[in-house]
Amino acid sequence: MLQKIYENFGISPEVYALGESILEELKPRFAEIDQIAEINQLKVLKALQDCKVSEACLLGTTGYGYNDIGRDTLEEVYAKVFHTEDALVRPQITCGTHALALALMSNLRPGDELLSPVGKPYDTLEEVIGIRDSKGSLKEYGISYSQVDLLPDGGFDYDNIAKAINEKTKLVTIQRSKGYQTRPTLSVARIGELISFIKNIKPDVICMVDNCYGEFVETMEPSDVGADMVVGSLIKNPGGGLAPIGGYIAGKKECVENAAFRLSSPGLGKEVGASLGILSSFYQGLFLSPTVTAGALKGAIFAANLFERAGFGVVPNSVESRHDIIQAVTFGTEKGVVAFCEGIQKAAPIDSFVTPEPWDMPGYDSKVIMAAGAFVSGSSIELSADGPIKPPYAVYFQGGLTWQHAKFGILTAYQSVKNAGLIP
Ligand SMILES: *Cc1c(COP(=O)(O)O)cnc(C)c1O
Repeated sequence: MLQKIYENFGISPEVYALGESILEELKPRFAEIDQIAEINQLKVLKALQDCKVSEACLLGTTGYGYNDIGRDTLEEVYAKVFHTEDALVRPQITCGTHALALALMSNLRPGDELLSPVGKPYDTLEEVIGIRDSKGSLKEYGISYSQVDLLPDGGFDYDNIAKAINEKTKLVTIQRSKGYQTRPTLSVARIGELISFIKNIKPDVICMVDNCYGEFVETMEPSDVGADMVVGSLIKNPGGGLAPIGGYIAGKKECVENAAFRLSSPGLGKEVGASLGILSSFYQGLFLSPTVTAGALKGAIFAANLFERAGFGVVPNSVESRHDIIQAVTFGTEKGVVAFCEGIQKAAPIDSFVTPEPWDMPGYDSKVIMAAGAFVSGSSIELSADGPIKPPYAVYFQGGLTWQHAKFGILTAYQSVKNAGLIP
């Protein structure tokens, strides 16, 4: 019966059968993911219960937002989930880049140095730091930056990291996810090793982790292994697909306080910032996040297996362990990238009838094609894909609010690539 339904959507019986046979093999792996989701579900539930979240917490404030019990309690919940002293979780933090910029700009002072020991950070941070000149960058404020690349095998370059740490080094930024690079994503355990190494050399350095796309993929978070701050976006994993905006910073009291004073104003800090009736989606999204993330993770693994079998390069590969929800598939041709993205778009609940096209996006040095038919604009915990139109012609795929939808999207994308004549 399912096969018939899929056929009505244009998925051939052959592609459907291939998918089913792969899923049969993936059963043990999916069972592990379900177990991680179960542990994380209970972790979130415990935090909600321990913080005595009440119906009143779901309401919001207006104006200054003084005594916003829902906002303050939500921040306690985040601190409990991430095992940190404090957290800042706000709709006034507009996106992941903003959350990261806020964490950096509020905890660094002129004369300090920022170190990235894991290579180049996410594209949008280049302008925050001043790697690419930009108005208001850390560089403009007299904050210097140094970077140590990963070794060719993906390992940490401990010798050069030790050399790079000096009397000015105040903050170390560690990106968990590979983002749009080909390096491996860092496991929480590896992040822990790196943090201990750095703290051994300089105990008072602040270790910040860009946690985007990593939340709830493992049972531990970087804050469980020594990170002073973890930072992320609510339109990725922890918003569970329901948060329509927002970012978070969870960490040491002093770090979070600095961020709060920078977000609002010195003297005001966390006391202001009306939540405007948005809190219910933040709470419910966090509650759903462990299972939503698990569904997205299954989708990424399913895609890796399907496209690897068809002969395309996939990062991570079909059997590697996972530490974020991103899947890269290398097609080697523009046609492949476009066909994949067309398939993802066709599978969307919103805007499924439009055809994505490559365009000159600001900030990129080539045309980019994006597939996104999301309830929340730009949300990448929802089924989405994008690919720069340049060698090696890879697409980066992530999300899916339910496993069933992720599966459908991947089969549709596979069929689209097949129909384009790229799979025998
Ligand atoms: C998405 C992402 C960011 C930036 O988040 P935006 O919400 O797009 O501004 C930063 N770092 C990583 C690793 C990301 O995946």
